[in-house]
Amino acid sequence: MNISKHDALQWFEFFAELDEGEGLPPRQQELALATLYQIEEAENARLEALMAEVPGLKSLEGRTYYVGPDDKFPKGCRSCLLGTGLGAIRKTNKCNLQCPFCYDFGEMDGQPPVGEGMWEIGGTKFYERDLDLLLSVDRHPTGVAYVYLEPFMEIEKYYGIIRRFHEAGIYQHMYTNGTLATEENLRALGEAGLNELRFNLGAARVADRVIDMIGVAKQYIPMAGIETPMTPEFYDLFLQKKDRILATGLDFMNCAELHLNPNNIENYWGEPLVMCRQGYLSPIWSRELTLKMMRRASEERWPIAVHDCSNRTKFARDLNLRAKEGGWFGASSYGNEFGGIPYAAFLPILRDDGFRFLKEAPLPEGYRIGDVVL
Ligand code: SF4
Repeated sequence: MNISKHDALQWFEFFAELDEGEGLPPRQQELALATLYQIEEAENARLEALMAEVPGLKSLEGRTYYVGPDDKFPKGCRSCLLGTGLGAIRKTNKCNLQCPFCYDFGEMDGQPPVGEGMWEIGGTKFYERDLDLLLSVDRHPTGVAYVYLEPFMEIEKYYGIIRRFHEAGIYQHMYTNGTLATEENLRALGEAGLNELRFNLGAARVADRVIDMIGVAKQYIPMAGIETPMTPEFYDLFLQKKDRILATGLDFMNCAELHLNPNNIENYWGEPLVMCRQGYLSPIWSRELTLKMMRRASEERWPIAVHDCSNRTKFARDLNLRAKEGGWFGASSYGNEFGGIPYAAFLPILRDDGFRFLKEAPLPEGYRIGDVVL
């Protein structure tokens, strides 16, 4: 069913008026899903056109795309996408910022603590002294990542555990907004054996101090780079400070496709959105900006890897993780984070005359506005 944009808008205006939680009968569900498909197909065509303009675009075994030197591609991503998968370690349940794109926006004070003296590894609570037991029982992961909020809120607690994983030969990467980084704590992380540090440069709105800390990190930690959601604001600020950023000697930039959840969607209300594989919901400009950035990096021969960390990449990452865990064929936890379709959120793109569906056809009988559609 190649539903037209006009029909799709009429149906979505109707769906948006329904009470939240009210399920749609099957044919109305077909209409809703056919609309999401049309938006996604149209957006894919725009992305393919942008990709075709990126010289030297490379694929990491079909799992993701990047440009730039191969040895600058983040090894933590290689472990996630090709190795044993993302091994998540959680500790800190707090952050000193409040980014509009944060998945915990508005909920920062409600993040559950891991507990005094404890670490959450693979969903299980451990004391640091339990690590020898864990490492003697389990097969070692190719890499682990410290993924919960802002580790530099209590960075001194991390040195010991990083040292133990380092001694076990496990690759470790960490995320930070960089605002609390100092030469002293970056040196301590490097001495403990951290392999890779990723700065969310968009969190600090590309602050000079954080840019400088990337350069300091590079002195002590083998790989340092940027991982930040691609937004129009970040794109502009990055290009304004591009020379200063590249002069830090950073290795890579992971351009994350911004995806929305019930916490942060209000901050992007009114933006044109696409739902990818009935899963992540993203503003269409996010990956488009990534591809424009990659084109520029490649044309200007920036000495870093620029990585298209898209929703498709996250989908590949999750498939890899489940497969390595011994999950069933096709198992993945990728999916819709809303528990339904937020119909009203799609009205802006359906009302945007500049966004066209690729193919349109009249609705079949039994699916038209005015029909009894069950
Ligand atoms: S720095 Fe990271 S954890 Fe903190 S508010 Fe921003 S996105 Fe969230």
